[in-house]
Amino acid sequence: MKKILSAFFIFSLTTINVFAADMSAEINQASERILPQVIKWRRHLHQYPELGNREFRTAELIERELRRLGLEVRTKIAHTGVVGILRGGLPGATIGLRADMDALPVSERVNLPFASKEKTEYNGQTVGVMHACGHDTHVAMLLGTAEVLSKMKNKLRGTVVFIFQPAEEGAPAGEEGGAALMVKEGVMDKPKIDAIFGIHINSQTEIGKIKYKSGSFMAAADWFTIKVKGRQTHGAYPWSGIDPVSTASQIIQGLQMIVSRQSELTKAPVVITVGKINGGVRENIIPEELTMAGTIRTLDDAMQKETHERIKLTTQKIAESVGATAEVSIETKTLVTYNTPELVRQTLPSFEKSIGKENVLETEWVMGAEDFSYYRLKAPAFFFQVGGMPAGKNPKDAAPHHTPDFFIDDSRLDVGIKAFCNIVFDYKPTAKIAQANDDKISAEILSQQIQVENCLKLQLFDKPFQILKPVSEFMDAKVFNLCGSNS
Ligand SMILES: [Zn+2]
Ligand SMILES: [Zn+2]
Repeated sequence: MKKILSAFFIFSLTTINVFAADMSAEINQASERILPQVIKWRRHLHQYPELGNREFRTAELIERELRRLGLEVRTKIAHTGVVGILRGGLPGATIGLRADMDALPVSERVNLPFASKEKTEYNGQTVGVMHACGHDTHVAMLLGTAEVLSKMKNKLRGTVVFIFQPAEEGAPAGEEGGAALMVKEGVMDKPKIDAIFGIHINSQTEIGKIKYKSGSFMAAADWFTIKVKGRQTHGAYPWSGIDPVSTASQIIQGLQMIVSRQSELTKAPVVITVGKINGGVRENIIPEELTMAGTIRTLDDAMQKETHERIKLTTQKIAESVGATAEVSIETKTLVTYNTPELVRQTLPSFEKSIGKENVLETEWVMGAEDFSYYRLKAPAFFFQVGGMPAGKNPKDAAPHHTPDFFIDDSRLDVGIKAFCNIVFDYKPTAKIAQANDDKISAEILSQQIQVENCLKLQLFDKPFQILKPVSEFMDAKVFNLCGSNS
């Protein structure tokens, strides 16, 4: 009897193993079969791109395809977002897969039969519109994934939530949007997502490759404005006024000293860039005031907070030393894109099954930012890159994202589909993964929960000469009430 039982046990194990191996082979074949259709979707989306919160035709296409597959579909989430829900035949966890949908105000210069000729109004200007960040490929790959998985539904454990998100590049002025709004509108809660994955195509990574990083991957992006106020005078008699122009130049040097002398750069990099200065009308007039604006990039929550405080202190003290005043405002655009290490560790074999171990590469920190970072407030998350550069090309010769010459070789979009599908079939929910994510979300970051996001913008505008208090100190009942009535 014992013999029979152990034989049965061994047989079951073998069956399970064969079953698992079979799934990846089946997934990979199905992903290759759907590739021509995925390329068709991608090229159509590429030809007719739409800016953030205006992805109407894109949303229609997504909705139509998801309904054709028999998925439960929700529309108009965070303006134009679409969510498809696929319930597997077997019980299991709920996985979120996300693609962003928006294009950029860039005029395409690439000579392609499906190049974009679209034009639109943006901030009062007529601009070209182009999928210059490759979000067209993300939508196409996620639709392909939905197609492959829906045909394997009976063997699927748990639920898959396909999240098509608008406005990753930022909502138009005065509007809310993107991942923060998707989270606010409950996309992670109904059904409750246990882990979420996102893809970004990369124009400087060769096709057929996946790049990933465990822990902090992409930077938090803050935008800041500094208003320096002096006293207007004749350009020939600077001593009779207070010069905001020379004060601003000292402040810019001071900001770079924060990076080079005060930030612990061996822990994580920090970037402060002043990208805009406005002030003055004429060569021989020292103006009354000047405004400059820039961006801060950090890869660590604590360093982000510390950098904010140092910027305020440095600006205040330099202005004070010449009798000027300075007003600093900082607005957080995205958080650090943090890949939960336990989740990364568990997911790597799924990548290897998809494209072979030699094509799965660890990468460096990225100082660019992603609003995918907001999903990790709700669940362990993993954001990775897929190659879109033609094989053999030198990355230095490949146009970067957001440029008119940006180009993606779409012949290997099956890589993203394989990765997504294998992840879904291999995922095992563990307490360790959930815990690892919770531990990393500091109270500070949690206090930036989405429902207070807009209110924070108001609170961050501080009085001149006052150093900003930690964000958490603003989280009193009054602020919450104010936000409650907003949402
Ligand atoms: Zn982009
Ligand atoms: Zn992008």
